[in-house]
Amino acid sequence: MKEIVSTKLLKEILKQYYQSLYQDSQNPHQKVAWCSSVGPSEILISIGFKVYFPENHGALLGATRESNKYISIANAMGYSPEICSYLTSDVGAFIKKETPLTKAYGIPSIPEPDVLVYSTNQCREIQDWFLFYSREYNVPAFGVFPPWKIDELTEEQIGFVEKQFKSLINSLEKITGKKLDIDRLKEVVSLSGEASKLWRKFLETAKNSPSPITFFDGCIHMAPVVMLRGTNIAVEYYKALNEEIAKRVDGKVGAIEKENLRFYWEGMPVWGKLRFFSELFSKFNTCVVASTYCNSWIFDNFSSENPLRSLAEGYTQIFINRSETKKEALLKEMIDEYKVDGIVFHDAKTCPNNSNSRFGLPQRMIKKFGIPYLIINGDLNDLRCFSEEQTITAVESFVEQIIESKKEIRG
Ligand code: SF4
Repeated sequence: MKEIVSTKLLKEILKQYYQSLYQDSQNPHQKVAWCSSVGPSEILISIGFKVYFPENHGALLGATRESNKYISIANAMGYSPEICSYLTSDVGAFIKKETPLTKAYGIPSIPEPDVLVYSTNQCREIQDWFLFYSREYNVPAFGVFPPWKIDELTEEQIGFVEKQFKSLINSLEKITGKKLDIDRLKEVVSLSGEASKLWRKFLETAKNSPSPITFFDGCIHMAPVVMLRGTNIAVEYYKALNEEIAKRVDGKVGAIEKENLRFYWEGMPVWGKLRFFSELFSKFNTCVVASTYCNSWIFDNFSSENPLRSLAEGYTQIFINRSETKKEALLKEMIDEYKVDGIVFHDAKTCPNNSNSRFGLPQRMIKKFGIPYLIINGDLNDLRCFSEEQTITAVESFVEQIIESKKEIRG
């Protein structure tokens, strides 16, 4: 990967976030909430909670390749190897009282929650994950349950989620003893929207040819929009990052040496193999220019004018929560906009929710739009489900197949 200089700043920001979160969690007057990654963190911030994201911890366990050491512990407790490996690795690390945050940021332990808040907009497993901690810490867990697998989003559906947010706010106010400050919510939602727009701008630089960034850069630089949206820190970070990448665009500097093919990555990353994939595609002069995963934190509609409703809309319309028909249309849009030659579907063994190759979508994409696809078997965290050898062979033959068919078209 061509180095992005802003990564240094990113590391500093994350260090400060975790260290201050841990310190604040030691203050008995400061309440801490755990939130799902596409959960309503803006509401939590506005009520005065410090927010921690267990999924990011799960990704860190995967990226540091610590996860397999912990998955078996959760398996032994009755959590199946077939279920979300973020959950099993996180639960196993909790039982062992270990965290990669100690080595990375010098934090002795994860911050303890006063409340857990999740949304099933992403999956149903998140509820079981958070309920585990609710039992362990003896604190309440509140869920938001948006309608699932929606086609076109209706006013009624948005209203249904907004109503749940209002009831969530009532419950949270009882924990802090403070009322939600609507002006603060407006400010937080506006900052969230701004960070999200800047995040979109970063991702969209990949529409250039050569692309100045890859999907794997996206996986690293998404941390602020996941964990720090609603703050100025995320906004300022993405301004700096975009400034750096704009220079690459101006100079026509590609993220990989010689961009010959452009791929779309569908599904979760294989966290422990980011470098492996980055080098593998680069070897074949292929840039992975776009993904469903990184796009999940683009919330165009967030607005201070109608903050709760815009949160309800944004968090319900995410890709993972759409019907197969809608997913097909959204993918086609991306393929056209990013001028993609093929789609790589990652079929993550333990995350059927974010693996979109199981209901004929790849086959429909090639049949209807002529877009070739490759399905890679793997997992987000459980590396027992992933084979480097098989993946290399599969990617190599996929690349050859596309190059051959391009030659045929050119005659
Ligand atoms: S979406 Fe997948 S990875 Fe994320 S919590 Fe749900 S099952 Fe786990």
